[in-house]
Amino acid sequence: MTQTATHMSHAPVSILILEDGEIDREMYRRLLKKNADIDFQVTESTSYLEATKLLQDHRAFDCYVVDYQLPDADGMAFVREILSRGDGRVSPAIVMVTGQGSEEVAVEALKLGVSDYLTKKRISEGEFVQPLKNAIEKARLRTELRHYREALERSYKDMSDFAHTASHDLKAPLRRIAAYCDMLQEDAASRLNDDDKGILDRMSTNARRMQQLIDKLLAYSKITTQQEDRQEVDLNNLVRDVIEECAQEGAADKIVAGDLPKAHAYPEKIRQVIINLVGNAQKYRDPSRPLEVHIDGMDVTDHILMSVADNGIGIAPEYHQAIFQDFKRLHTQDDIEGTGLGLTICRKIVQMHGGDIWVESEPGKGSTFYFTLPHRRNGNSG
Ligand code: ADP
Repeated sequence: MTQTATHMSHAPVSILILEDGEIDREMYRRLLKKNADIDFQVTESTSYLEATKLLQDHRAFDCYVVDYQLPDADGMAFVREILSRGDGRVSPAIVMVTGQGSEEVAVEALKLGVSDYLTKKRISEGEFVQPLKNAIEKARLRTELRHYREALERSYKDMSDFAHTASHDLKAPLRRIAAYCDMLQEDAASRLNDDDKGILDRMSTNARRMQQLIDKLLAYSKITTQQEDRQEVDLNNLVRDVIEECAQEGAADKIVAGDLPKAHAYPEKIRQVIINLVGNAQKYRDPSRPLEVHIDGMDVTDHILMSVADNGIGIAPEYHQAIFQDFKRLHTQDDIEGTGLGLTICRKIVQMHGGDIWVESEPGKGSTFYFTLPHRRNGNSG
């Protein structure tokens, strides 16, 4: 084992070269020395066993150049050794080198986690330092990406924990207020005048509304924090379940679905969208006629188009966009209860699938909500 170092102003890059051929090592040394802008601190090794011992004794290296054919093992075994030692948080830059080059070996090496694959012929033509620099940069970016992903997951979890705790802590005193209101209404009814009873009524109504608002806010926070696998979803089954649930709440309502396509989606979240849209159709019904809701869907070239149509009170054109904003309501609480978050949740969910949501509606006639989802053929998107 020999160690050489050049002194440059940039941070040094430690590199382990595992190569049994003296002439090849000499070539690598020469090419690295010619490089002007990186201070490569080179450690050389000639066998799998020696290099493995170096890994045991030494800290990890920034970059590895590994010959595929070694006297005591193949280079792939050493790559596995490198990868098994890391904690998976830092990606090492590994370049595999072979005599002749084989497509099979190249594929196997890249699959294993090697950054690049070079033949000795290419190296002898001077192609060595740039691939090493690329491999180092690629490894650095991969490491950075992993750190960002971990930080994002941590912050999602923190947010989710916070929302849970906050909703729990807010709901507990509210439940107590509602319970005290009930107690007063029952026990002190004879001592209260009509005004007092009215005030008590409003207190318990507001406590209940606050509970609904907290539930909706929690549902809103779960859109991005709740983990669920994206998968092929048969919308027929999903919509049938929702219809059964909603039909129990409005027994006389006619809620029907056409033949629906499959989507590549988060099933629980799409369920939430359908529940919110059907729930709104029931809530904003026209009292002068029985409610009819039609759920349809079709495959369009590169996405799925879903629609939920009702014959309810409809929405004036100037509100067709505003209703998707946070807390936007067109009715007072005394008129029709709500939080103004139902459509916001729908919009968020559809957007996280890469889709769009909009409404077409005429006051007095009804509304049709449309949304798009990725097609099952785009299965790997997102
Ligand atoms: P919420 O129902 O809690 O008020 P949403 O975000 O679900 O909140 O809806 C926002 C507003 O859009 C509602 O207040 C209502 O005025 C209008 N809206 C939603 N769906 C319908 C519908 N199917 N028919 C008529 N108006 C609707």
